[in-house]
Amino acid sequence: MTTIAFLGLGHMGGPMAANLVKAGHTVHGFDPVPAAVEEAKANGVNVFPAGIEAVAGAEVIITMLPNGALVKQCYAEILPVAQTGALLIDSSTISVDDAREVNRLAADHGLAQLDAPVSGGVKGAVAGTLAFMVGGTDEAFASAQSTLEPMAGKVIHCGSPGAGQAAKVCNNMVLAVQQIAIGEAFVLAEKLGLADQALFDVITGATGNCWSVHTNCPVPGPVPASPANNDFKPGFATALMNKDLGLAMDAVRSTSSNAPLGSHAAQLYARFAEQHSDLDFSAIIQTLR
Ligand code: NAD
Repeated sequence: MTTIAFLGLGHMGGPMAANLVKAGHTVHGFDPVPAAVEEAKANGVNVFPAGIEAVAGAEVIITMLPNGALVKQCYAEILPVAQTGALLIDSSTISVDDAREVNRLAADHGLAQLDAPVSGGVKGAVAGTLAFMVGGTDEAFASAQSTLEPMAGKVIHCGSPGAGQAAKVCNNMVLAVQQIAIGEAFVLAEKLGLADQALFDVITGATGNCWSVHTNCPVPGPVPASPANNDFKPGFATALMNKDLGLAMDAVRSTSSNAPLGSHAAQLYARFAEQHSDLDFSAIIQTLR
């Protein structure tokens, strides 16, 4: 079993660390928020008063932080004290450029590092069924398997450093466009006198089927567990979708890519997030009515 340092014990990191403890690993945790620390302790994490103390002696160091600036700041602190041969895994959602920068920083200290953002939300973190999209060398990927396994439903090696974050921004740009398109279809159907259930039955059995309708259906009724049945309580909060689309647009700009639908979706979500950042992102249908 492995000694793993886990930095960032929030909504996602807390349950991910708990699953590592359940799998028999020794987990050294740190988070500046006292409530996160208390919950982690209750789940069997050995909590330390600072990140640099948590990483001392750890064979694997996982970060699950809110953004790239914090990941870079955290790496600047912990890299000088990480033990020789330690593997770093960053599961935060950050830009491809930041992911490549922290990978280079780790390499400068002689340490292997992977970007391994996740999909599946808090539910997947609790259940240990997250999808990990991993960027890094074959050797580092192979050595991460036993650490990722207790937290994962699926682990995909996407390529070299930054490739995991690249996959994450591309996937979420598709998701944003699809959720808007499905919302537009339900609003148009309502105006044409078509019942929500009839449209749901047709789309889910036809070529328009996608997660945004078969699981995250934006009208109440057809999918009882979708956020539309619960005042659009997330689910996947608009604030997080807006953050991910910001990263996608940075990537579009830095590569001079052409993404007219993704760019428009990013504008619509940025506007929606100004007032409704805490609602599930499927609530964007409300702006279409
Ligand atoms: P969160 O805000 O609940 O947790 C982040 C935690 O990091 C906080 O508890 C914060 O106190 C802690 N932190 C900040 N600086 C730290 C430091 N230097 N050392 C240790 N801890 C520090 O956020 P979350 O929802 O858990 O998301 C974490 C990451 O996962 C984000 O990058 C997010 O975009 C991504 N993500 C979230 C979801 C989701 O559904 N919540 C899904 C997929 C990906």
